[in-house]
Amino acid sequence: MDLLYHTQLFFSIFFLLLFGYYFIPAGTAYGYFYLYKKSQPNNRHIQPRYPTRQSMMREIKWSVLSVLIMSFFVQGLYLLIINGYTRMYFSISDYGWLYFGLSTVISILAYDTYFYWLHRFMHLKAVFPILHRTHHLSHTPSPWAILAFDPLESILEFGIYPILVFLVPLHPVALGLFVAHNIILNTAGHIGFEVVPKSFFRHPILQFGLTVTHHDMHHSKTNCNYGIYFNFWDRLMKTNHPDYEKTFFREETEAPQP
Ligand SMILES: [Zn+2]
Ligand SMILES: [Zn+2]
Repeated sequence: MDLLYHTQLFFSIFFLLLFGYYFIPAGTAYGYFYLYKKSQPNNRHIQPRYPTRQSMMREIKWSVLSVLIMSFFVQGLYLLIINGYTRMYFSISDYGWLYFGLSTVISILAYDTYFYWLHRFMHLKAVFPILHRTHHLSHTPSPWAILAFDPLESILEFGIYPILVFLVPLHPVALGLFVAHNIILNTAGHIGFEVVPKSFFRHPILQFGLTVTHHDMHHSKTNCNYGIYFNFWDRLMKTNHPDYEKTFFREETEAPQP
């Protein structure tokens, strides 16, 4: 009975993640940008080349493996949550709406910092081949690369979830908003076409958000542009690529840099 319950739970989580966390966001982005936007003029495509079929098949293979690994962790976390071992709460009135909003923002900022430093760590020469090499096989990433990680990287990327639910009182909807935000921005970073309006780049507040070009250059140039949502840490640690701004503002008529 218990085995049946856990097996059913595992497959429910696996298929939920496979479609909700991977195939739907990656497939929607691929469909829109590579089957439609690609044929449009002035589409702000970032690199001079497109991802190959072979590269996309590799990205899908590694991403499905990541979903499988993440499913084990989500199942463990789910059981801890429903049995009351974490700080998650289920009634908004426990902390109020202000805290609800704040807890979502805190989760996003916490992951931005977690990701930046995890990412810097994964780029250390000694650990790069075992932790992060697979993600960087995509020099020209496609949306299918969003979860193309080495197995150990999948575990480390997922590490933010136990940190959050054990330390921060979170309502399931706040956690859901954090997850949705993560899916959208992680997918955006791999679409290969710039979608951030040029006016955002020097806006007093919006300039701290990242662009598609930022993560795309991380794939094509490797040791630069480590951030995921915001540009605080890359600016502070001087890890933005020197050509980041120039590449972002590149006009369609200019020859793209290889
Ligand atoms: Zn990297
Ligand atoms: Zn990437």
